[in-house]
Amino acid sequence: MDELTALKVAISPVDKFREFLAIQGKRLTQEREIIVEEVFSDHRHFDADELVDRLAYNDDGRRVSRSTVYRALDSLVQAGLLRKVARTNDRDVYEHDYGYPQHDHLICQKCGSLTEFHNDEISEILDEVSKSRGFRMSGHRLEVHGICEQCAQPKKRKQRLPGTV
Ligand SMILES: [Zn+2]
Ligand SMILES: [Zn+2]
Repeated sequence: MDELTALKVAISPVDKFREFLAIQGKRLTQEREIIVEEVFSDHRHFDADELVDRLAYNDDGRRVSRSTVYRALDSLVQAGLLRKVARTNDRDVYEHDYGYPQHDHLICQKCGSLTEFHNDEISEILDEVSKSRGFRMSGHRLEVHGICEQCAQPKKRKQRLPGTV
């Protein structure tokens, strides 16, 4: 499976978000900047509550409120920086949309894990399907549902000695 690596982008996520907010007559507050920097510090799928936790334990002791995080996430999706990828375990999961290559997801129905993969043949097939319907594809995110390798493994029963609880 190919390793997905971030693409080089001309404008940093912070600057791109600043531009987006400026168009809406808003400004990039310090809180919003902290959120964007944390979100883009590494590529992981995350949900809103995880991000709230990550920001709560920031080294410099500044806290960002839950409602600010939720609102910022909505704005980041609108700005094209983030994408809601799926709902697993009853939570919306986000990932970077800006500066990240085309890929698809394997989603485990048991543990909610998301595994990324890229396959050229899938892209070609979807391109053909689109073209045959006069549709111009700009991208895709397939959600493949099932059970991951770890969850599919039979659970090892703990051996108990007779007489122990
Ligand atoms: Zn699993
Ligand atoms: Zn992904």
